[in-house]
Amino acid sequence: MSDAHACSASNIAYEIEATLDWPGQSLAVEQTLTFLNDTGHSLDTLVLAFPGTVAPEELTLKRIALGDSALRDYILNGQQLVLPLPSPLPPAEVVQVKLRFDLSIPPIRSGYRHGHLGYWGYSARQTNLGLWFPQLLPYKEGNGWTWHQFWPVGETNVSRAASYRVTLRVQGAPDTLRVAGPGAFVRSSADTWRFELCGSRELSLSISDQFSLLTTTSSGSIPVELFLLSSGDEGAMRAARHALQVATDALDLFEKRFGPFPFDRLVVVEGDFPDGMEFSGLVFVSEAWFRTWQGVPNDWLTLITAHEVAHQWWYAAVGNDQAAAPYLDEALATYSELLFIEHYHPELVEWWWAFRVNAHTPSGQVDLPVTAFDAPRPYINTVYLQGARMLGDLRLAMGDEAFFAWLAHYAETMRGEIAEPADFWGAMSADAYALTAPIRQRYLAEASVVSLPDAIP
Ligand SMILES: [Zn+2]
Repeated sequence: MSDAHACSASNIAYEIEATLDWPGQSLAVEQTLTFLNDTGHSLDTLVLAFPGTVAPEELTLKRIALGDSALRDYILNGQQLVLPLPSPLPPAEVVQVKLRFDLSIPPIRSGYRHGHLGYWGYSARQTNLGLWFPQLLPYKEGNGWTWHQFWPVGETNVSRAASYRVTLRVQGAPDTLRVAGPGAFVRSSADTWRFELCGSRELSLSISDQFSLLTTTSSGSIPVELFLLSSGDEGAMRAARHALQVATDALDLFEKRFGPFPFDRLVVVEGDFPDGMEFSGLVFVSEAWFRTWQGVPNDWLTLITAHEVAHQWWYAAVGNDQAAAPYLDEALATYSELLFIEHYHPELVEWWWAFRVNAHTPSGQVDLPVTAFDAPRPYINTVYLQGARMLGDLRLAMGDEAFFAWLAHYAETMRGEIAEPADFWGAMSADAYALTAPIRQRYLAEASVVSLPDAIP
């Protein structure tokens, strides 16, 4: 980083200066990646990847430099960017990669099939920059760089925790423009916003000239903000106040259950696309759930808001390979909905199981990768819903105390890391692991996740 700031302990730092042409919906980006080689290996190449949601025709790569020297023999292979280093990067040495590129932002398409990717795209009333710039891939001992081809079901990005500083300048925007973003921020001039976020998986923004803002504070003094699109009538305001309350209550409860919220601020954005989506310190909840809210707690607006907030622990704090083992974040986020309902609306527990899970008669092996599914419904049924059943069975077998101690221990030990199934199951005591073997056999393709040392005779 160019100067010291709160994230200076991070081995990966991104500094981004982006100019958004508001009328043209395009971005000019200057990005600097500073990487301290903590892989333990000397590296001949670095591999970055643009998010799978950014189509090749939306990207114009203009320049890559290592330090101040232009790098010409890089390879852009689809979304993957392979950078051969002129000399190997020894362990514990620092390299700085500078990239300049333009992005044209796609319109958010209608219908769920394409529209659910609207966290990268613009509508008549919102521009969303979720997964919009390249990141260094995680390097795994024995496997090299972890990367997955984009898959239209689920998520495929795997990000190491890093520090981010993004300065966004918006040109040609109306005065009413607001930028929703996570972490510490300053509006340094009328058209410039700067966001800083430590230990996060990305830094995502949402921009609109129609946002209204509702704010509150959690009982642990964390500001919670809701950026609302539809502020016209009292019904919309009631839905927004409900979502803000759910987000704040969820944050309070999950801090008690799973440990501290990982960021300074929680931002909830009404997304102009038909799905929820988790990012670090910022989550989208679809406008559809606001629009159709019936004024009761047992509704999608409640469940999806609590679900996306739970991803602040299961995805943002504790990372995972979302393509290879999506249950590590999605089953936990779904089960966290039940914890929310159980705590704040205990009379609705049976409703939750019936409405959210059993109505879809889920089945299948919870630990399958996203590529095992070719449509969202079977993916959700197996990974989210059957996954929630598995967690329910584990809790019954272990008892509440051991079950919640396990989750809190897992969250604490894997915070800032990319967890694998062995980390999740290995966070249990050996006794609990042995006790729950039949549950793993029932729900998982790979039931022997953790290799236990041989018993001493
Ligand atoms: Zn989710």
